[in-house]
Amino acid sequence: MLRKRSLRTGTAPRPRRRLRVLLLVVLLVTTWYLFGQAPAPQLALSIAPDGIGPEAQVTAVASEPRFGLSSVEVILRQAGEQRVVAAEKYAPRSLLWPWGDKTARSSVTAEVGHRRQSWLVDGEAEVVVRATRHAGRWRQPAPSEQLQVVTVQVTPPRLEVLSVGVRVRQGGSEAVVYRVGERAVRHGVRAGDHWFPGSSLAGEAGQFFALFSAPWDDDRGDSLRLTAEDALGNRAEVPFVDHFTPKPVGTSTIQLSDRFLERVVPPIVARVPGLEPLETPLATYLEINGRLRAENRARLVELGAQSAEAFLWSEPFLPFPGGQVMDAFARRRDYRYQGSTVDQQVHLGYDLASVARAEVPAANAGRVLLADYLGIYGNVVVLDHGYGLLTLYAHLSSLEVATGQTVTRGQTLGRTGTTGLAGGDHLHFATLLRGLPVDPLEWWDRRWIETHLGSKLGPNLPLGMEAR
Ligand SMILES: [Zn+2]
Repeated sequence: MLRKRSLRTGTAPRPRRRLRVLLLVVLLVTTWYLFGQAPAPQLALSIAPDGIGPEAQVTAVASEPRFGLSSVEVILRQAGEQRVVAAEKYAPRSLLWPWGDKTARSSVTAEVGHRRQSWLVDGEAEVVVRATRHAGRWRQPAPSEQLQVVTVQVTPPRLEVLSVGVRVRQGGSEAVVYRVGERAVRHGVRAGDHWFPGSSLAGEAGQFFALFSAPWDDDRGDSLRLTAEDALGNRAEVPFVDHFTPKPVGTSTIQLSDRFLERVVPPIVARVPGLEPLETPLATYLEINGRLRAENRARLVELGAQSAEAFLWSEPFLPFPGGQVMDAFARRRDYRYQGSTVDQQVHLGYDLASVARAEVPAANAGRVLLADYLGIYGNVVVLDHGYGLLTLYAHLSSLEVATGQTVTRGQTLGRTGTTGLAGGDHLHFATLLRGLPVDPLEWWDRRWIETHLGSKLGPNLPLGMEAR
């Protein structure tokens, strides 16, 4: 009755209708807010490296821009074992202020690997990322999940020493032949910070050799390891040195006179960019003998990395003809000035004196890696002989070869002189393996080359034949 009338008159009912519409809207919004479902959180999952070895990192990125994330967890499972390896929880938005802060996106990182999860075994494992978002208040939506199957590798690559009679002297060189499994991606000899990579042995599948040195500053030889590593970081290490002979570092004294400093310091300062003279000639000298020496050595390591994967030589190394030994390899030098020791460095080559401006022959066939001025070495020639072996000729007065050029054994490289840190006209001769100075004595000796390299490398070492 009432309703009819109001319809008829059309006055009083309008606000009621509005009220009903309003109530309906409120009901719909409330229902949507309380029970409405937003899309589940989005997930992305990545693993580096591409599998699980001793150490790997799982990164999960989750996003839910509407209500915000509630939790993210990373689970690792294999062969009945299951562990949460990372978990995060996020606070919801304020009930009173639904436009407030929320976590719309989060990146969660889990450290995994058989070093942490010792229950992992070779085979496949599952990495699961699970994320939940905050509910439309009452209703918790189902979590999002993403699963990735990954390879787990616990066993290191196979590594087997084939050489018998690996005998090395402190500061000396040696070769080792070994076999590695196909999984190995990096193998060779490690000696502390020094690395001597292996090269394949022609005609012998899976067999490799490395030329290496027992570093001159390791008097126990216990830093030497034959190693092989797979792409996931599993590393095999085997002992391989049958005999190590210590050769203690000798000592010598260098007297620094003002006359000497005045003669050698200004030409080096003039040639080396960025080297400024300090308050006294001695201070500048110490800068050259310390910092510049270290820089120059680092350059030789860089050059060592450019070595050819081939023996460029086929005869023993030539000594400097008529050269009188002024100082030998691996001698600790005390630098004395006005009665006190002002510096200490180790001399890592041979100082050989003949007549002034004597011709300097290439010790062996090779390629010129550097023919230029290089700090403490003055005018220097660096030759590559292959497989990481370099020879260096320093303090030259003139250069007769150019970088990149191929040279024959005995070819004149230049003439002796006093450039760089040289007390008088002489040749500083050094041999280096992958940038590490080694004693040249062995390389001058045909018998040593035959017994240490020839016996292990067989026809791979082209000794006694013309290489080219
Ligand atoms: Zn020297």
